[in-house]
Amino acid sequence: MSDVKQEGVGASSAPASGWAREELASLQARGLRRYLEPLDSPQGPVVRVGGETLVNFSSNDYLGLAASASVRAAAIAAVERYGLGTGASRLVVGDTAVHHRLEARLAAFERAEAVLLFNSGYAANTGILPVLVGPGDAVFSDALNHASLVDGCRLSRARVVVFPHADVEALTKALEETPARRKLVVTDTVFSMDGDVAPLREIVAACRAHGAALMVDEAHATGVLGARGAGLCEELGLEDQVDLRMGTLSKALGGQGAYVATSRVVADLLISRARPFIYSTALPAAMCAAAEAAVEAVEKDPALRERLWRNIRRFSDGLRSMGLRAEPRSAVFPVVLGGPERALEAARKLREAGVLVKAIRPPTVPEGTSRLRFCLSAAHTLGHVDLALESLRGVGVHQRGEE
Ligand SMILES: *Cc1c(COP(=O)(O)O)cnc(C)c1O
Repeated sequence: MSDVKQEGVGASSAPASGWAREELASLQARGLRRYLEPLDSPQGPVVRVGGETLVNFSSNDYLGLAASASVRAAAIAAVERYGLGTGASRLVVGDTAVHHRLEARLAAFERAEAVLLFNSGYAANTGILPVLVGPGDAVFSDALNHASLVDGCRLSRARVVVFPHADVEALTKALEETPARRKLVVTDTVFSMDGDVAPLREIVAACRAHGAALMVDEAHATGVLGARGAGLCEELGLEDQVDLRMGTLSKALGGQGAYVATSRVVADLLISRARPFIYSTALPAAMCAAAEAAVEAVEKDPALRERLWRNIRRFSDGLRSMGLRAEPRSAVFPVVLGGPERALEAARKLREAGVLVKAIRPPTVPEGTSRLRFCLSAAHTLGHVDLALESLRGVGVHQRGEE
């Protein structure tokens, strides 16, 4: 902390700085303070960080597309043609032909009537929910849904009914017992911190039985699940049964931004009403062009997904051989350790062995479930995966509940 004397707004003696010092000290004492750590390399299976070269198990770049040659080339060509910034929201002058081309491409990929882009998954979720439901309505949200869905529920000012994780019986009961004008159910398909998969067929049936609409977040499923890589809805053949399917460009697609696959009329309403869509500068055309190249890679190169799944199976077999719980259901594997300090300590030890895996702590995960969260990528070699397993063995990790 700097002792340099400053005066005026922003000075370390100003009220906000006092509040911040107090709260940071409290976070620090509870093992919950967070720090930035810049990378000196592109995203990839091996990264340079803080002068070290580490095998990276914390990236959501599941197919290794973030730094791939085709994605880079598409972005560069689009920068040459369109420049960088879009200058305004899409409704003003920020719209380009590339945005529309990407939406058409994603609509075909998702087998949807319409697709609408958002600047991020966070913007999509916080923007969409308040358009669909409001006061007098009810939204039913899985207890482990991503923070952006939680915030979207809050912003909607609808009644929020949180149902126990993946508990369709409890959801059904809540749908029966909650009076509301409109009912909307919202769930992750692959849960971001646990890597498990929502019981989507059963959720769809519950929604149908109770006249509820359904929105799903496929952030960790896009590019990972389904024969074509379009997500859990594709895997289960439920594309037509889900009102809104949100996916991101920022994880397996290696870029930035998000989209929702839905009906034309819902997309049209979002264009007129979703605040993050209306009041935020459009994605750069270069990002859209890069995403087009990424979707093309997912569609034309099934070997990417095959390599990812080979790694997923290797890693989950390895975890199970250590007596740890593991289901090869997605690219995300939590090793739940308990308190935040235990997770931080395990992350430190793994790092000494050359493995970068970040500790995930509350409020990202519930109290008492701090964890290491391993993310596999198609870009990992089997050697990388084995290194993670060996280091985990070396650290002598005991998962909570199995000590
Ligand atoms: C990452 C994530 C988001 C947010 O997406 P961004 O594009 O990073 O803003 C939304 N939902 C889930 C489930 C996520 O994991």
